[in-house]
Amino acid sequence: MILGVIADDFTGATDVASMLVRGGMQTVQVLGVPDTGLPEADAVVVALKTRTVPAADAVAQSLQALKALQDAGARQIYFKYCSTFDSTAEGNIGPVTDALMQALGTDFSIACPAFPENGRTVFRGHLFVGDQLLSDSGMRQHPLTPMTDANLVRVLQSQSAQQVGLLRYDALRADATGRIAQLRTEGVRIAVADAIDNADLLTLAEACADLPLLTAGSGVALGLAPAYRRRGWLQAGDSAAQLATVQGPAAVLSGSCSEATNAQVARWVADGRRAFALDPLALHRGEQSAEHWLAQAVPALASGPVLLYATAAPERVQAVQAELGVEAAGKVVEDTLAAVARGLVQAGVRRLVVAGGETSGAVVQALAVRQLRIGAPICPGVPWTQADLPDGGQALLLALKSGNFGGVDFFAQALREAGVALA
Ligand code: ADP
Repeated sequence: MILGVIADDFTGATDVASMLVRGGMQTVQVLGVPDTGLPEADAVVVALKTRTVPAADAVAQSLQALKALQDAGARQIYFKYCSTFDSTAEGNIGPVTDALMQALGTDFSIACPAFPENGRTVFRGHLFVGDQLLSDSGMRQHPLTPMTDANLVRVLQSQSAQQVGLLRYDALRADATGRIAQLRTEGVRIAVADAIDNADLLTLAEACADLPLLTAGSGVALGLAPAYRRRGWLQAGDSAAQLATVQGPAAVLSGSCSEATNAQVARWVADGRRAFALDPLALHRGEQSAEHWLAQAVPALASGPVLLYATAAPERVQAVQAELGVEAAGKVVEDTLAAVARGLVQAGVRRLVVAGGETSGAVVQALAVRQLRIGAPICPGVPWTQADLPDGGQALLLALKSGNFGGVDFFAQALREAGVALA
């Protein structure tokens, strides 16, 4: 194994795995801290669900994942977080980075969430989402990790016990290796790295391929395969990931309230496709349940794919959170969608699109999926993946979409690419 990745959520793990596959690295994604030996691959991505748990839990799980990856011989470790640097006020990006650096015995790492193809750029230490500063984007209203400061040096410094500095784009472009050496002598232990375009990511990856630890969004992974090839660690190969051809009904589950997902749900409904809107308050009061929705959705599968969603506009989300609390609101939706996923798969669904990082995590846990083979991308950062169900039956194709990703027609596009006949 060349690279071992520790990802702080499930869709983020799929996203970085997709980047590695695109670079020609055979990649397997393992869900949760591995309890058995790791599969053979150029890269193994361990998908945790640590983005919003208490910092101490995030640290403990990340260190367990590190141990498994080290035992399997990983040359380099990559801590993957969201391209919008999603973190709670207490962490978890800083505390996990500090703990991994200590465990690896290294005194320098970088932090770079940039993913220019998806509109995430870092300029002079500030994160942009498209043309907006992170703090002006929809992320300021995220249900679990509202991001109200775009200055990543400041955000990370508030979470880390180590000195945080900046690897600015001009120095990166002029002499990345030299500037990194200089930052180290200045006492900087974690450098937030600018990246405005893909060329910057390639430069950064080349300059950092020998570091024991990288911390980044998925973008930096794009540059690693070429950097490893130049070092002779990775052979040239065509590993276009071919997944099984799968028959059976299809469905979409959405627990994401991101702007992009709201637009995708609206489009599905506007196109006249079957959709069922879950109401978190009614679920909480017991007036609705997973069984209640399954009783309606399963018969509808016969006439085409169905969407079940809790996706709502920020005002609606805030109203629900005011009544139930942020955590309880999230949990009732996640638990319900997870139970619905289980029921749908039992009813024969074999192509399933899930929107929302936390939501996807809850769904794969409920389905007891342990490993995903990574296939072709639907959009940058979101591939189809193949899960082999524990009962040994027919494979299940899963598309796990992080909230912000995908065009407005993402749901139908994904299903068409999985062979579903859709008008
Ligand atoms: P994203 O990838 O867009 O961040 P996530 O699934 O990670 O999506 O997070 C969205 C969170 O919001 C989940 O915990 C989900 O259960 C919760 N949620 C979904 N719909 C609602 C709603 N209508 N009201 C309150 N919370 C909601």
